[in-house]
Amino acid sequence: MPMFNSREEYEKWKAERDRRMKEIYKKDIRSQDLLEEAMSQIKAKKDAEKEAKTESAYSGDMYMCQGANCGYIYSSDTEDEKGGIAPGTGFEDLPDSWKCPKCGAGKGLFKNLE
Ligand SMILES: [Zn+2]
Repeated sequence: MPMFNSREEYEKWKAERDRRMKEIYKKDIRSQDLLEEAMSQIKAKKDAEKEAKTESAYSGDMYMCQGANCGYIYSSDTEDEKGGIAPGTGFEDLPDSWKCPKCGAGKGLFKNLE
């Protein structure tokens, strides 16, 4: 504690010290808020990733061709370039004219594997 020539000086020093303490304390609170915000953002991101994973697993429904000796499996992850089907296309979204690229069977011959 510094030496003071008068009580006034001491009060001034004390006020300044309190002000600094408050500033430091406020800063602490702010960094705590930032930390919590960052944590909740990380959690939200993780939740979104988890949801996206579940979603892609769901859209990955698999359908198997029941054509004789075929066994071709269509899933939305399948890219059927010859048939002009973009990856991510669900079986239900395939055009009715779509045929099994292996044996040429129609959509009606496919069975949902789930
Ligand atoms: Zn087939």
